[in-house]
Amino acid sequence: MLTAIVGINWGDEGKGRMVDLLGSRYDIVVRYQGGNNAGHTVVNERGKFILNLLPSGILRAGTVNVMGPGMVIDLAHLCKEIRGLAEKGIGITPDNLKISQGAVVCFPYHVRQDILEEERLGDRKYGSTRRGIAPVYADKYMKKGIRMGDLLYPDTLKEKLESIIEWKNLLIHRGYQDQAIDMDETLKWLKVHGEPLIPFICDVSDYLDDAVRKNKNILFEAQLGALRDIDYGIYPYTTSSATLASYAAAGAGIPGARLDKVIGIMKAYSSCVGEGPFVAEFFGEEGSRLREAGSEYGAATGRPRRVGAFDIPASRYGIKVQGADEIALTKLDVLSYMEKIPVCVAYEIEGERTDRFPTGDRLLKAKPVFELMDGWKCDISFCRKKEDLPAAAAAYIKYIEEMTECRIRYVSVGAERNAYIDMEAV
Ligand code: GDP
Ligand code: MG
Repeated sequence: MLTAIVGINWGDEGKGRMVDLLGSRYDIVVRYQGGNNAGHTVVNERGKFILNLLPSGILRAGTVNVMGPGMVIDLAHLCKEIRGLAEKGIGITPDNLKISQGAVVCFPYHVRQDILEEERLGDRKYGSTRRGIAPVYADKYMKKGIRMGDLLYPDTLKEKLESIIEWKNLLIHRGYQDQAIDMDETLKWLKVHGEPLIPFICDVSDYLDDAVRKNKNILFEAQLGALRDIDYGIYPYTTSSATLASYAAAGAGIPGARLDKVIGIMKAYSSCVGEGPFVAEFFGEEGSRLREAGSEYGAATGRPRRVGAFDIPASRYGIKVQGADEIALTKLDVLSYMEKIPVCVAYEIEGERTDRFPTGDRLLKAKPVFELMDGWKCDISFCRKKEDLPAAAAAYIKYIEEMTECRIRYVSVGAERNAYIDMEAV
């Protein structure tokens, strides 16, 4: 069984939490794109964890975790993440972690370039996480990347790196007039943070091909959401990789494999980190109240997230481009304080109402059309069966299900592993 767990919205829908929950059914969990700009929060019996690079299956004994060739890896950050987990008693060995030789190394100079560019842009900035993600993906496509597999060949690695740094300094030093990238320092960084990772580097395609042949269950874990996909999201306020389920097998290392199921993670309201169009946004008091209720602060960066109403045109679009078979609706409990719950049912663009999600600059002109649903005004975080839900909460779920035209299989009502309802349980 090959399943992808992907975001339907702008990210932070609770993917890590759902991977942790559903992970027990899978032998292998694979991250297939992105880098340490992800922040997946998992709360289970072992404590609270924030994972940036490691797949969320790392917290379960017996699950093998794979970091696919579609990823970009900041070596220092990964070492720190592994050490942090080790301190909490979670052992990481080449048996439960495999890193693709094709994944691309994110260097300190990528981080520097990211920051230099955001600073240059000033108030025209993209709202980058400043972790070097756009520069490292750009270099990958310029064919100026160092891949994890290069760490296994120190002699050629040095040669490749010298040539790349010479090129990169044309931008960093001559262009931005910042301090030149130093070869020795970069080599030292590689040695300190790269060497400990060498035992984990392998041809993950061989491993995964074999697993597929043996009918193992594999879960593909995405970062961010549909609306941040580089091709189908709100470009240029997207991330720099493909967040869609259709890229899962390719980014994982088994491009020929077919997925059996796509589970879309969708939040009961909206949140968005960084700049860009966000039509259903709440402002002022209404915004702060929801931000506090949902603890909407970035897991990777600590930045306050922008929040808003559930957005039907955007979510329906997200479901379509993800090809979601079923949905996990998360954080429904957060809405419990609301008397009436606004839902963005359509957009108004230049005086015309539309329920389609527009792309390009038309989106910048969209204004939200809200409808108010009845709130339930009581704690639902203890609900574990469909029948436990108050009628207004059940109606909210049903309404969203009908409007987005996708089956809602799971509803989560708390951050802890078991705080959810299987809507199809009998
Ligand atoms: P991800 O990036 O998609 O994995 O999501 P994040 O971890 O960045 O953000 C989701 C946040 O919501 C985390 O802090 C979770 O612990 C929390 N969370 C997940 N599901 C629920 C839920 O159903 N209710 C509440 N109250 N919190 C949740
Ligand atoms: Mg997150």
